[in-house]
Amino acid sequence: MFSATLINDPFDDPGVYIDLRYRREALLFDLGDLHALPPRKILKIQTIFVSHTHMDHFIGLDHLLRICLGRDQHIALFGPPGFIGQVESKLGAYTWNLVENYTNDFILDVTELHERQQSTRRYRCRTAFTPEVMTDEAAYSGTVMDRDDLTVKAVFLDHQTPSLAYSLEEKQHLNIMKNALIDMNLPVGPWLSELKQRILRGDPDTTPVEIRGKHHIEKDAATLPLGVLRERIIKVTEGMKISYIADAVYSDDNAAKIVNLADSSDIMFIEATFLDEDSERAKRKYHLTARQAGKLARRAGAKNLVLFHFSPKYRGREQHIVDEAMAAFRGNENGV
Ligand SMILES: [Zn+2]
Repeated sequence: MFSATLINDPFDDPGVYIDLRYRREALLFDLGDLHALPPRKILKIQTIFVSHTHMDHFIGLDHLLRICLGRDQHIALFGPPGFIGQVESKLGAYTWNLVENYTNDFILDVTELHERQQSTRRYRCRTAFTPEVMTDEAAYSGTVMDRDDLTVKAVFLDHQTPSLAYSLEEKQHLNIMKNALIDMNLPVGPWLSELKQRILRGDPDTTPVEIRGKHHIEKDAATLPLGVLRERIIKVTEGMKISYIADAVYSDDNAAKIVNLADSSDIMFIEATFLDEDSERAKRKYHLTARQAGKLARRAGAKNLVLFHFSPKYRGREQHIVDEAMAAFRGNENGV
């Protein structure tokens, strides 16, 4: 239950805004120019996943700081090797001598990811962003975030510098249908959360489930098979998967990692800087072509494809980029 949209035009800085409406929270993939977002949307951001720190992917940190300063904001940022030092350099470029007078708490938790380890530093506005060590070289195995509602994974791609590609997967959600409970004359009680756990665990449909409520009296209704309950009182909301593939060269290694990470994405955001006619240039610049992006999305079995990061040289030819990628995505390359 979220929406994911490009922040800017595909010719401008990369970035995807994910609005988790049910939690009044937003996440970002990449931190390019944020001026297209109104401050109320910026203030919803709680987590930011940065692919790499080329300027077009990272310049938004200044604007973010400007909007959040003097407010109660707690933001987690994730980025590639060197990220902690780079955030510190940005923070170090300003004078913070009066911030201890602020009554609000603005906190940044910055995590730097390496292939097998991660380190986190905390920066509080009130202490003039003096670094605090949260974790140092803790184990990292590919999962950046894992909480009740979603999981975020990352892989390292080659863009002549490490570039992180991310996938966000919402977990399956089980909702109890209150009306069905009433219709079946079943009580509310802790048995409902036990039932949810059993379903998520994959217990067989024949498993007897004990129904215990405060006012439960009917003996013969004390158990019902799990399958019956699941069908009649549970509504399953399937989770969505979004992947964000920023700058990367087309190589066998990158392709395999992208296809694996983005497997069955509902929406796959992927950079398509060049047209196939400029594939040599794309290789030299460590970027993908539209055709390569389409092929990768096809191999990943993505349901929808959103392209970004178009080279300014193609202004006015946007449709050409989209058509080339979509033909490869649909396996209809003769149409190009
Ligand atoms: Zn870029």
